[in-house]
Amino acid sequence: MKKRELEQLASKTEEHEFYTPIPDGYKKGKTKFVIVTGTVMSGLGKGIFSSSLSKLLENQGLKCMPIKMEGYLNIDSGTLNPYRHGEVFVLDDGTECDMDLGTYERMMDKNLNRQCFVTNGQIFSKIFERERKGEYLGRDVQFIPHVTGEIKRHLRELAMSSGADVVLVEVGGTIGDIENSHYVEALRELSYEEGRGNVCFAALTYVLEPGFLGEQKSKAAQLGIRLLMEKGIHPDIIACRAENPVTEKVKEKISIYTNVPVERVFSMHDVESIYLIPKMMREEKLEIEVMKLLGLDSKAKEDKAGNYAWDDFTQKVLKKKKNKATVGIAGKYTGLRDSYASIIKALEHCGAYLDTDIDIKWIETTKIENGGKPALSELKSIDALIVPGGFGKRGTEGKIECVRYARENGIPYLGLCLGFQIALIEFARNVCGLKNANSTEMNKETPYPVVDILPGQKNIDQLGGSMRLGGRDIDAKKDSQVYKLYGSKTTIHERFRHRYECNPKYIKKFEENGIIFSGRAPGENIMQILELKDHPFFMASQFHPEFTSRPLSPNPLFVGLVEAAIKLRK
Ligand code: GLN
Repeated sequence: MKKRELEQLASKTEEHEFYTPIPDGYKKGKTKFVIVTGTVMSGLGKGIFSSSLSKLLENQGLKCMPIKMEGYLNIDSGTLNPYRHGEVFVLDDGTECDMDLGTYERMMDKNLNRQCFVTNGQIFSKIFERERKGEYLGRDVQFIPHVTGEIKRHLRELAMSSGADVVLVEVGGTIGDIENSHYVEALRELSYEEGRGNVCFAALTYVLEPGFLGEQKSKAAQLGIRLLMEKGIHPDIIACRAENPVTEKVKEKISIYTNVPVERVFSMHDVESIYLIPKMMREEKLEIEVMKLLGLDSKAKEDKAGNYAWDDFTQKVLKKKKNKATVGIAGKYTGLRDSYASIIKALEHCGAYLDTDIDIKWIETTKIENGGKPALSELKSIDALIVPGGFGKRGTEGKIECVRYARENGIPYLGLCLGFQIALIEFARNVCGLKNANSTEMNKETPYPVVDILPGQKNIDQLGGSMRLGGRDIDAKKDSQVYKLYGSKTTIHERFRHRYECNPKYIKKFEENGIIFSGRAPGENIMQILELKDHPFFMASQFHPEFTSRPLSPNPLFVGLVEAAIKLRK
C-alpha cells in the first residue's frame, strides 16, 4: 500500500469504533458458518464431531471447508514435541499443523490447505506486521476490534478463496480458556455481522455418569453451556458426549436450562469406533437440523452411494477378519499413541481393505539400545516392521538393529522418512561394509556420511517451517515394486518433511550392493524410495505415505506391507 492510502485508511479507523476488515468482493450470506466449541472439558472430540458434520453436509451436496483455531502462540505445529502434542500433520501445501487436520482430511477425503489452520501466533504476527506498516496509524491496537477483526478477516478470506457453502470453525480448547477468549468474541461478532440464519453455533458438552450414582447428571453440562452464554453466544445445537446414550430426561433438562429445543440436543455417546460417528449423527438427523438453521435444507440432496460406501467401510473395520498380522512399530515415542496417529490410521485402512486384524506391537528403541541385542526377542512375534519418522539421535541405534533383523530374516519392512535413512545406514554398515556409517544428523564425525543434510538446508538457521515440506511429485521407476503398488504409475505424489537425504556420493555404492532407488525427485538427485530385490518386501520412502492414506483408499505402500505380512504369517 502507498503511504497516502495508508494515511487515509488510518484516518478512517480513527473516525469510528468499528474495525471490520471485509475482503474485497465478499458477499454476506454466500458462505454460512458453523462454529464448534467445547465446554466442561477438553478432549471431547470436537475435531471428530466437526469433521463428521462436514462429511455429512458434503454428503448432502454442500461444499464444506473446515478450519481449526488454535490457542497457542506458535506459528504452526512444526516445532511441537509429538510426545506432548501428538503427531505433527503435514498438508499438501507444506503446512505443519495439528493432527486434527488429519482427522478432517481422512473423514472428508479431501485435501486441506494453509488457511484451514490458524494459531494465535499467526494472528498476532499479522497484527504486528500491520502495525509496523502503519495500517493502524493513530490508533492503539486492541484485542477488540483489531484482534477480533483479524480473526474475522481470516474466516471471510477462507470463505471466499474456498468458495465453500459452509465453513466449519473448530475453536481449540474449552470455553473459558484465556487463550481462545478472543476467538470466541470474534465469532460472536461474526454471527451478529453475518446476520440471522448465516451462522450456527454447535456446543459440545459432557454428561457425567458417575459409577457410584449409576445415573446421568446434567449439571456440569448446564454450567458449561451457561459459560458460553455469558460470552454472548447462544448455542443452536448441543451435542452431548457421554458414556451411554443420553436419556430423554437429561436432554430435556439441558434444553430447559439452555433454551435450546430438545430436538436440537443430541446424544453423542461412546461407540466402538469413531467411524460410526457420522452414521450416528446422520440417524439423529443432526446435519439436517444444521441445514435448517442455515436455510440450506431446500438444497439437501443425500448421496446415498457415498453413505453406503462409508457404512460398508465401517462394517469392515468392526467385523471379525479373515487374516491376522502383527506389525511392529519401532520408535521412541511409543508411550503416546498420538505421536503416530496417521500410521495407526493407515494400518486401520489396510486392515479393512485386506480383511485383516492388525495388531500393533510397539517397540521402544531406546530400550533396545540400553538393553542391547537381547531385547530383540521382542521382534520374534512380528510379521512386519515399520520404522516411522523421527528426529535426533536417541533411539536410532535400536532402530538400526530392528531393520537389520527385518532385512536378514525376510520380515517385511516399511521405512517412513527417518525409516528410509535408517535403512540406508543399516545397509551401508552391514552390506556395503562401511563401518560406522551414519547420518550427519546423528554423528557429524562419521567416516561414511551416507545420509547428509540437503544442500538447500545447509544455510538455514531457523528451525520453524524450514524443512523440505509438503506434497511433491516423485518419478517412479517403471516395473519396480512401487510402480506396481501405485497402479502402474510413473509419477506419484506424496508429502515430505525432512532436512536430510541419501548422500548422492553413495548412490552408486548402494546400487552396486543391491539397493534399487525406485523413486527419485524429478530433475534432482534426491532419492525418494528404495527397495530390495531379494527380499519379500523391503521398502522405504523419504516421504510420509501415512499422511495420504484415506479410509476408502489406503496408501499403496501400507497395502504392500500388510499384504506381505499376511503372506509371511501363512
Ligand atoms: N530427521 C530426519 C530428517 O530431517 C527425518 C525426518 C522425518 O522423519 N520426518 O531428514
